[in-house]
Amino acid sequence: MKYIKILVALFFSSCVCISSAANNELPDIGSSASQVFSLAQEQSVGDSYMRQLRAFAPLMHDAEVNDYIQHLGFRLVENNPRAADRKFSFFVIDQNSINAFALPGGYIGVHTGLINKTDNESELASVIGHEIAHVTQRHLARRIELQSQLSLPSLAAFVAAILIATQSNNSDAGMAAMAGAQGLTQQAIINHTRANESEADRIGIHSMHRAGFDPKAAITFFEKMQENSLYRSNNFEFLQTHPLSRNRITDARLRASELPLRPVIEKPTYQLIKEKIKALTAKITPTMMDSANKRFLKNEFDTDELIYGYSILLMRNKEFKKSEDLLLALRKKHPNQTSFAIALAELDIENRTPSRSLLIIRQLLEKIPGNLALVESNAKLLLAADNAAEARELLLENIHMTSFAPHLFKLLSRAQEESGHKAEVYESEANYLLSVGDLSGARNQYYQALNAHTEDPYARERINSQLRRIKEFLYKRSLRH
Ligand SMILES: [Zn+2]
Repeated sequence: MKYIKILVALFFSSCVCISSAANNELPDIGSSASQVFSLAQEQSVGDSYMRQLRAFAPLMHDAEVNDYIQHLGFRLVENNPRAADRKFSFFVIDQNSINAFALPGGYIGVHTGLINKTDNESELASVIGHEIAHVTQRHLARRIELQSQLSLPSLAAFVAAILIATQSNNSDAGMAAMAGAQGLTQQAIINHTRANESEADRIGIHSMHRAGFDPKAAITFFEKMQENSLYRSNNFEFLQTHPLSRNRITDARLRASELPLRPVIEKPTYQLIKEKIKALTAKITPTMMDSANKRFLKNEFDTDELIYGYSILLMRNKEFKKSEDLLLALRKKHPNQTSFAIALAELDIENRTPSRSLLIIRQLLEKIPGNLALVESNAKLLLAADNAAEARELLLENIHMTSFAPHLFKLLSRAQEESGHKAEVYESEANYLLSVGDLSGARNQYYQALNAHTEDPYARERINSQLRRIKEFLYKRSLRH
């Protein structure tokens, strides 16, 4: 609940989308981009929101899920001509509600409930493409700017409320303040939304078409939303006050029908990821497992994706042998499919027999070097095989991945500790704490790192620059109070 309320307040863009506009020839309002609220300022506000979200929201840390959503997101970013100079990061939140949102700074979150509700990859792409358009058209920046012009105190209250909630861990006080801030600014948000929604629909549909998705999926998803009673009963006031109108669907249908037909390219990984998410987020109970076992015996799991999902349920229920038999059969059928190899690697780590999977995962990683899930799996296998030195090297080579998967810092700090690089551990721990918004914790660890790194001028320079960032942030924050 705590998290949902924070999100309502952060909810500049809610885009299981809402509002209406029938004008087909809207001007590109992104072209008169905000001058007052710079990209750098927007990024800094977004970074700050994201740190709070990492601390509070049930983000999915599964590397395959993260890898998938990043790839899908960037396939759309590459096909949005305005996205070239912007930073993006995509993430999944374990929440049943059907929702997706964009934060300032290009952070785009998708709820597991929304992913489950989609029937194909194009439907999911339609929502993400729309969110990317909100970022590229600077709708968020514009709203923040408008809010500061119209009601500066409410923005201050808004930011303060997030900080109160974070620092004191007293969510109710923070939430009450935020609810007030939200009420004050809501009208300004609504007034801007109609044009923004229409523009984001238009641009989103074009980028999904260019990226090889089916633009008609935007309409099927709108219709599904309209029919969905969950949509009316969920907690998001923002959605309740912005019903999805017939105009908006008509408008999207018209746009999609104007586009030339193209072959649709959907990745088979979509179904696997969807089944994995379902299996990872299901509540494991004897009744649920009993029903899954019965379905399996009746051959109701009639696709490889469903069998894969079932094997993950078995693994979560500690039925390792049954899970392994199914995964080995899947892997035999699809030797290049990374998901099955990664699941088997997890079993091998569990059974303390990492050597069986080490070679397989390493070979897959040579074929697909930028794959986060393979890097993480390889690092875990190396640690399980008492080869922390190699795990450390592998993670340092792929350190850029921590920008969208900060939990890798935890794995790195373990590899550093176990390989005898104790001086490095403080810095990794500090980087992790910074990513979840624990500024004072991060600062303490950076100071310890400075003491430990007396011999390494590069490390000192790097750490001092992080300390300066924290100092600046704390200074700016003190000005807001
Ligand atoms: Zn929207």
